[in-house]
Amino acid sequence: MDVPFLNARDINARYADELKAAAARVIDSGWYVLGQEVAAFEREFAAYCGVRHAVGVGNGLDALALILRGYKELGALSEGDEIIVPGNTFIATFLAITENRMVPVPVEPDPTSFNLDPGCVEAAIGPRTRAIMVVHLYGQLANMPALLALARRYNLLLIEDAAQAHGAISNGCRAGAFGDAAAFSFFPAKNLGALGDGGAVVTNDTVLASRVAALRNYGSEVKYWHLFQGVNSRLDEMQAAMLRVKLKYLDDDIARRRHVSQRYRQGIRHPDIRLPAVTSEEQHAWHLFVVRCAHRDALQQQLQRLGIQSQVHYPVPPHRQSAYASLRDVRLPLTEQLHDEVLSLPMGPTLREDEVGRVIAACQAFECPP
Ligand SMILES: *Cc1c(COP(=O)(O)O)cnc(C)c1O
Repeated sequence: MDVPFLNARDINARYADELKAAAARVIDSGWYVLGQEVAAFEREFAAYCGVRHAVGVGNGLDALALILRGYKELGALSEGDEIIVPGNTFIATFLAITENRMVPVPVEPDPTSFNLDPGCVEAAIGPRTRAIMVVHLYGQLANMPALLALARRYNLLLIEDAAQAHGAISNGCRAGAFGDAAAFSFFPAKNLGALGDGGAVVTNDTVLASRVAALRNYGSEVKYWHLFQGVNSRLDEMQAAMLRVKLKYLDDDIARRRHVSQRYRQGIRHPDIRLPAVTSEEQHAWHLFVVRCAHRDALQQQLQRLGIQSQVHYPVPPHRQSAYASLRDVRLPLTEQLHDEVLSLPMGPTLREDEVGRVIAACQAFECPP
């Protein structure tokens, strides 16, 4: 039997009875879009993150895009504005910006954490810069004190792409509560995953929250009266009901992920496999456990031969994608090197102890090609 990279069925099987009861509650209610389940989940998720508002939307990309749309409607952002982003991120971070006709300015990461490097961010700030979009990559909080100080000094919005970092915490402040607004994804493979697509915008800004709430629903606050040219991107009642069940177990799941990461970090001692750098235990929610190896493809093949699934997050950076020919001239050597060297090992709350042991043994047995 293969060691799975992530097994969504096992993850949800643990709460099958509760999930089925919640699904039955929605079916029997006869109300499937923007009802009590979404309202309750929004309250519960806002409380979990420690912010005033959460607005359920269709997915994580829409959550990011609707934050920018909301700021446009408020006059805080306009088309053509530059937004600083990490070069090494999932493409959704870029898509949200270009969808709003703004300009992503990608910068190099910190070489040990792979998160935004505040020095590189400051160097990229220019007259058209209006915001920093920080990504808590792989589940680890970026250097928020430094980035918040920069945002304040240069009068920039600080927006968090927290799609990988549900539950990461620093000094009592959780991912999503640091910046002006944050986007979460509830894609099934995320730390808090629905049984389909879902997302949320969280913020302490009451006006932004009400703009996003209108924008996700055809730009309407009162049925058939449209204040904005909105979209249809709503978290549905069924997914909200699933998420309400799973939110109760999120911290237990993160503890389980942390345990797996501790075993990996103790057990994998190989001169050619670099372990992830950890700022502090609580600041990492271990969405992914990513090692670095100059012979990444050989390592992945070796794991494959031993029945261990692994993935690459991500093989090609956004500025090297066909979708972004406009960024062809951008040079980000460290970002590009990382994309050639990173490998994500199996990680999740249902990974068994013996499976963790197999992954460690397989890494230890890796023989670097000459
Ligand atoms: C998953 C992810 C998203 C997008 O979320 P979806 O729900 O899949 O649209 C955005 N940013 C990052 C960093 C992600 O990992």
